[in-house]
Amino acid sequence: MAATTRTNWAGNVTYGASDLLSPTSVDEVRRVVAATPRLTALGSTHSFNRIADTDGVQVTVAGLPPVLDVDADRRVVRVAAGMTHAAVAAGLEARGWALANLASLPHISVAGAVATGTHGSGVRNPSLAHAVVGLEVVRASGDVAWVDASTPDDALDAHRVALGALGVVTAVELAIEPTFQVATTVHLDLPWDAVLEHFDAVVSDAYSVSLFTSFDDRGARQVWTKRRTDEPAPTVDLVALGARPADGPVHPGENDTAGVTEQGGVPGPWSERLPHFRSTFTPSTGAEIQAEYLIPASHAVAALEALRPLDPVFAPLLIAAEVRTIAADTAWLAPSSGRQSVGLHFTFRRDAEAVAAAVARIEDVLAPFDPRPHWGKVFAAGVERLHEAYPRLDDFAALARDLDPTGRFRNAYLARLLP
Ligand SMILES: Cc1cc2nc3c(=O)[nH]c(=O)nc-3n(C[C@H](O)[C@H](O)[C@H](O)COP(=O)(O)OP(=O)(O)OC[C@H]3O[C@@H](n4cnc5c(N)ncnc54)[C@H](O)[C@@H]3O)c2cc1C
Repeated sequence: MAATTRTNWAGNVTYGASDLLSPTSVDEVRRVVAATPRLTALGSTHSFNRIADTDGVQVTVAGLPPVLDVDADRRVVRVAAGMTHAAVAAGLEARGWALANLASLPHISVAGAVATGTHGSGVRNPSLAHAVVGLEVVRASGDVAWVDASTPDDALDAHRVALGALGVVTAVELAIEPTFQVATTVHLDLPWDAVLEHFDAVVSDAYSVSLFTSFDDRGARQVWTKRRTDEPAPTVDLVALGARPADGPVHPGENDTAGVTEQGGVPGPWSERLPHFRSTFTPSTGAEIQAEYLIPASHAVAALEALRPLDPVFAPLLIAAEVRTIAADTAWLAPSSGRQSVGLHFTFRRDAEAVAAAVARIEDVLAPFDPRPHWGKVFAAGVERLHEAYPRLDDFAALARDLDPTGRFRNAYLARLLP
C-alpha cells in the first residue's frame, strides 16, 4: 500500500492513515471491513480534529453509486451515505421534497454530518441526525445490519450520532417533507443590549436565525433571518432595536460574497437558502479552524455576556463567531441531546497553537454553562468532562465494545473517549 500525504479540508490535520480505500459496492465495503484489522470511515474530510483519522486505513463510501429513492407515503428518502448534502438537497428539491434543515456548508457528506451531530439553526430544528429514520451499516464482522426505530435497545438513537465507532454506514433513510420556500434577510450591527435583552425573541422570530459576532462593540454584526414563506410575518423589528438592513450581500467571514446563498429577502427553494454557502461555489481550501459548544438555551444570554470580555483574545484570531439554536434531540451523543440548545461557534484563523489557547479560555468561561463540544471541531475538554456532559457515553462505549470487540473501528480519538 503506498503511503500518501493527505489532509482534512482545513489542512490542520495530516492523516496518519496509510491509505484511503474507496469501494464501489456494499459487498466490497463488507470485504474491505472483514479483511482490515483497523479502519475508519472518512466522509468529506470537513472535521477539524482526528475523529476521521486512524493508524490503519481510511475507507470512504463516496464511491458507492448515488441513490435517492423517495417513499412519498412514508415521507422518507433513502440516500447513499457518501452523498453530499448538496446532491441530496438538489435531488429532493427536483422531486418536490425537502429536508427540514441543512448545515451551513452543503459540500459535507450525509454520513459524516450525521455521525457528528452536525446541525443548522432554528429553535424547532434538531440536528441533521434527528432526520435519520433508518440506516444500513457494515459491522466489524463484515455483516450488514439495518437499524431503525424497531431495532431493540434504543439502537437507532445510539447509531444516529456514532462517531464512526459502530460500523461503516452505507445508506441512510431520512425524514422528508414537501418542499418549501425560504427568504433570507440580513441586518447589520444589532447592539449588544438588544441581543441580550431580546435574544429569545430574535432567534425565535423565523425558521432559522443566525447571529454573527466578533464579541466586540458591534454586537451582532450580522443577523441572518431565514424565513419560510409559509410562516407568520416577523414580530421583532430589528431596525427598531438598533440594527440596519444590509444594502447588499454579505459574507459572515472574509471571503467573496459570490459564495453565499442569496439574501435580500428573495424567496427561493429551501435547498438554496438554508445553507449559508452555495453548493456551486467551491469554498476556499480551508485556512481556518472551527470550534463549537452547545449549551442549554436557557444559559445563552449569560454565556454571551461571559464571553464578551474575551474580545482581546479573539481580536487577532477570530474570523467570525456564529450563534445558532438547535432543538432538543434524542440521539445519545448529539450535542443537543435532551436539551433545547444554543450553539456558540467560532471560526478561527488557521493558527493551531493560538486556537488551542483560545479554546482553553473559552472552555473555562463556558464551564458553568454545561457546554458540549461539537465532535467534529477542535476542543480541549478531557474525557472526564465529556463523560459528565454526555450521560449516555458509557452505554455507547459498551455498545461499541459489543459490536466491535477487536477494535476494528477504534482510532486514537475513540480510544481516548471510550476507554
Ligand atoms: C466550512 C465548514 C462548515 C461547517 N458547517 C457546519 C455547520 O453548519 N454545522 C455543524 O454542525 N457542523 C459544521 N461543520 C462541521 C462538519 O459538519 C462536521 O465536522 C462533519 O462531521 C463533517 O462531515 P464529513 O463528511 O466531512 O466527515 P469527516 O470529517 O470525514 O468524518 C467525521 C466523522 O464521520 C464518520 N463517518 C464519515 N463517513 C462515515 C460512514 N460512511 N460511516 C460511518 N461513519 C462515517 C467518521 O468516521 C468521523 O467519525 C462545518 C465544517 C466545515 C469545514
